Amino acid sequence: IQRTKDDAVSPPNKLPPFDYSPAPYAGPASDEILAKRREYLSPSILHFYKTPLNVVEGRRQYLFDDKGRRYLDAFAGIATVCCGHCHPDVVAAIVEQTNRLQHSTVLYLNPAIADFAQALASKLPGNLKVAFFTNSGTEANELAILIARLYTGSHDIISLRNSYHGNGGGTMGTTAQSIWKYNIPQSGVHHAVNPDPYRGLFGSDGEKYVRDVQEIVNFGTSGNVAAFISEAIQGVGGIVELAPGYLPAAYDIVRKAGGLCIADEVQAGVARTGSHFWGFEAHGVVPDIVTVAKSIGNGIPLGAVVTTPEIAKALTRRSYFNTFGGNPVCTAAGLAVLRVIEKEKLQENAFVVGSYLKERLNELKDKYALIGDVRGRGMMLGVELVTDRELKTPAQNETLHVMDQMKELGVLIGKGGYYGNVFRITPPLCFTKEDADFLVDAMDYTLSRI
Ligand code: PLP
Repeated sequence: IQRTKDDAVSPPNKLPPFDYSPAPYAGPASDEILAKRREYLSPSILHFYKTPLNVVEGRRQYLFDDKGRRYLDAFAGIATVCCGHCHPDVVAAIVEQTNRLQHSTVLYLNPAIADFAQALASKLPGNLKVAFFTNSGTEANELAILIARLYTGSHDIISLRNSYHGNGGGTMGTTAQSIWKYNIPQSGVHHAVNPDPYRGLFGSDGEKYVRDVQEIVNFGTSGNVAAFISEAIQGVGGIVELAPGYLPAAYDIVRKAGGLCIADEVQAGVARTGSHFWGFEAHGVVPDIVTVAKSIGNGIPLGAVVTTPEIAKALTRRSYFNTFGGNPVCTAAGLAVLRVIEKEKLQENAFVVGSYLKERLNELKDKYALIGDVRGRGMMLGVELVTDRELKTPAQNETLHVMDQMKELGVLIGKGGYYGNVFRITPPLCFTKEDADFLVDAMDYTLSRI
């Protein structure tokens, strides 16, 4: 591996111009907040940066710190702020609804909730039209699993290794990365070999991977399963695209075994992948249950499980209730998000700018042996760092170092993957080509100095 310093690469130019200046910050200093965080917040909080930023304002694809410095946010609150920070239409919808009615339960009728349910159904194919609202992706997946178990009468769930579906009692079982698992029982969950074209056991041969799903059905269950759950692109797992042909073949096997197919669109859904509104559409499948969260509220806690009227009936055998799920302020935000995506053609932008950014990241891959793989779609891109391309040795330290240095240059990105050596680039969908250039220039400069 060539790791000599290359002083010929110059630092990136200034951030693209942006017509907004935050109000002067008059709050407590970062040290004070950090001290409170250490004392009063759970120690489980993730540590990406040596010194976390004190982020005090956000506008579209930018965040501002307490000193008024602007950062290009290419992680978007973990692939969540899809319309951009504080989008005026989303803010207006939230304010308007907050002034009208902040909370209403499922006991009453409310237009904000019904209108959003209808708008969400209109974005989905087939007969996927009945929504249950939740507050998070974890809750949505917990509920999807429950519905599948009730509907099929089976307990067995198949999920993919390296997946992330949440951290609740049931979802932590389906999540399949040791770093996200505490030692709680995960009864009835089977983890299939991950169809990961870069690190997977069978390269990009989707057909070989899918045999494992059949093996699980044959040898790990009574022959009937409740559900198969999968992301269209694994997000937390390090932006892993599934091998071609895998998902339709896996869906066939699961349906023959009486199971339902759950698409976890918490991260890949809502226009993020650019080519389609939902990640599963790129695989040519129609799921039985779709789970949504993150982007759908642009940062406001909102999740949903959407399924067919027939499957939805499974939940009527007992009462099912969620105090905050489908809160009118959140659903008003959800409706505004769908409208902004359409009005500003954000899906098209995710496709065009995302394709351009991927091309530019691939140029870096040609230049630096440290980059083992560039992958993903639209505004869901991954860059995997390895110290040896043949052995694919994860370059964890370099990953952290580059992230930290890019932050100093004004660019925020995420990281993930089992080894923590994959940059996750999931910006707001309004990211521009100029932003993409700035990000790549910052990464180029940082890599050149390793
Ligand atoms: N599913 C996927 C694909 C996710 O990426 C996540 C979170 O990152 C979840 C589920 C859990 O969502 P939440 O953190 O809102 O509970």
